[in-house]
Amino acid sequence: MSLTRLEPCCCPEVCERLSEFLDGELGPIDRVRLGLHLAACPRCAVESASLDATVRALRLLARPGRRARLSRGR
Ligand SMILES: [Zn+2]
Repeated sequence: MSLTRLEPCCCPEVCERLSEFLDGELGPIDRVRLGLHLAACPRCAVESASLDATVRALRLLARPGRRARLSRGR
């Protein structure tokens, strides 16, 4: 009956590596492990999704020159 008590993360080990996971810095084995855990743990899946959105937003901010694709410099 403690559904109202939302802890930040049920699995600190997973949470700590989420950013590495999203950045693609983990090895293949750890990636699979984390992926499996995210599939089985709704809370971590939500955490991952929100962190993913944050990371993407930060990347966009960090690379303003990325949209220079339209340059027709041939
Ligand atoms: Zn979890």
